[in-house]
Amino acid sequence: MTQGSHEMMQRNGQLIEQQTSNHSCGRVRMRKYLSLWFTLAALLLAGVFGANVPSAAAAGKSKTSDKVVYLSFDDGPGKHTSEVLDILRDEDVPATFYVLGEQAERMPGMIKRIASEGHVIGNHTYNHEYKELYRNFQTFWQQIKRTEDIINNILGIRPALVRAPGGTYGHFDHTYFDLLKKGGYAVMDWNVDSGDSKRRNVPASDIVAHATDVPAGVSSAVVLMHDGGAHAETVKALPDIIRYYKQQGYRFEVMQASDKPVQFQVKPAVKYKYRQSPSASWIAKHVNTNAEQWIVAKPLKIQLGNMTVELKPDEYRIKDQTILVPLRGYMNKLEGSISWDQTSGTATTWWKDRIVQVNPAMGTLTSKRLHDQDGQTVQAVMESRDGTIWVSAGDLIEQLGAKKYTVQSKGSGWVITVEPPWTSMEHRHFYSII
Ligand SMILES: [Zn+2]
Repeated sequence: MTQGSHEMMQRNGQLIEQQTSNHSCGRVRMRKYLSLWFTLAALLLAGVFGANVPSAAAAGKSKTSDKVVYLSFDDGPGKHTSEVLDILRDEDVPATFYVLGEQAERMPGMIKRIASEGHVIGNHTYNHEYKELYRNFQTFWQQIKRTEDIINNILGIRPALVRAPGGTYGHFDHTYFDLLKKGGYAVMDWNVDSGDSKRRNVPASDIVAHATDVPAGVSSAVVLMHDGGAHAETVKALPDIIRYYKQQGYRFEVMQASDKPVQFQVKPAVKYKYRQSPSASWIAKHVNTNAEQWIVAKPLKIQLGNMTVELKPDEYRIKDQTILVPLRGYMNKLEGSISWDQTSGTATTWWKDRIVQVNPAMGTLTSKRLHDQDGQTVQAVMESRDGTIWVSAGDLIEQLGAKKYTVQSKGSGWVITVEPPWTSMEHRHFYSII
């Protein structure tokens, strides 16, 4: 059994517990759901649902310490990435990987492994070539977008985190900082350099010494390391580095675009003056549009009367201006239920008095009330990717019985407000369908 499917069963277990305690009135129903869930878990070892829900490593370490360490690995994926991942798994700590587009193209499986084990992926440009990247902003931007598309094709996620090859100091002028921010990206440098790429074959002992040398007054340590290229010594050093931060009482976190960025100052340098700045029309065409679409860097809140469902930035996606949610994860959060039928290729969801059948091959949602014979079928925006069905949040909410809803972009995130009246809960009808 893969680790992913093991996690899925654990998550299903948690869901059952939650449902049982929240719906004391539906005990018989829940017991039936319980067996349904275990059947599903046993059948769906290939992971039909929810490949993109972050694992416990990313989702929540206890927030008891004020000291935080962000381990970060640049230039991969490469030949040492799997060893790094093994160590992180054994130590049960998450990290952030700033990957190169050209490496991601070569090793898509490693990108999937990084994400599936609860780590976060950031964008480190396509080819790391300083001459291209720092010639002008337009070239840098093109590499960011190219890499972003590659990662999106592999994972269905667009990373908002960007790390500049070589760091921003001496490379970024204000145009780079300003336009990336406007485009919705968070640029992250570091404040602890492991020194593992200062020269070839820096010994592990030196790497440990530098990687644990936190500047005075810094409570959020962002540690720069490398998993791409020839970095066997970094792999050797990593367990000692992790041990140090554990002993010092740090908690380990992944970086998020909403975090306060760690950035170097702009180095005053004459050479920037020779850069051709992008024109206003170029910015309007590329950057402004990007910023409008870049809403996945914010959480998504769905307000249904007294109930608020929140999806973290990496738990939903945007495609062609449509908010797509992973069907299983979304139904879990709504405290609804879901089953998958391999033969017909349809997922069936239950929520309150509604049943909605989702057919990803046809792109249809068929909904009905529990006591109705026939359902109503509509076309909806959806796509199937790596065993996860992504469906338009709005289309699904409508078919689940919402008469009216609004979608708003607020500073703190996206808010879908569903207005009453609700379809009523009619428990008795559940028995007839199971
Ligand atoms: Zn690099």
